[in-house]
Amino acid sequence: MIYTNHKIEFDPDKCVGCQLCYKACFVDVIRWNYEAKKPIFKYVEDCEHCFYCQSVCKRDAIKVLPDPSSERLHQHFERYE
Ligand code: SF4
Ligand code: SF4
Repeated sequence: MIYTNHKIEFDPDKCVGCQLCYKACFVDVIRWNYEAKKPIFKYVEDCEHCFYCQSVCKRDAIKVLPDPSSERLHQHFERYE
């Protein structure tokens, strides 16, 4: 089992429903709630920490918080060593 404790903070009050974060996420962590016109964050443990969602959000509504002790994060960065 891979231990992860990654978090993504989302402030719905800042979100204007532009869908940019939803379109930016290539691993399907961000889904779209068509009724609420807001992103939904699922399976955050699969997040690859590209920070695309955080970067594209002009409203500063998303904060990606990787867990530095997670095995998955180490696996991810070891690829570049
Ligand atoms: S990019 Fe920001 S403002 Fe746009 S839908 Fe995502 S969270 Fe909301
Ligand atoms: S950091 Fe990248 S992989 Fe993680 S939720 Fe945002 S866009 Fe998706």
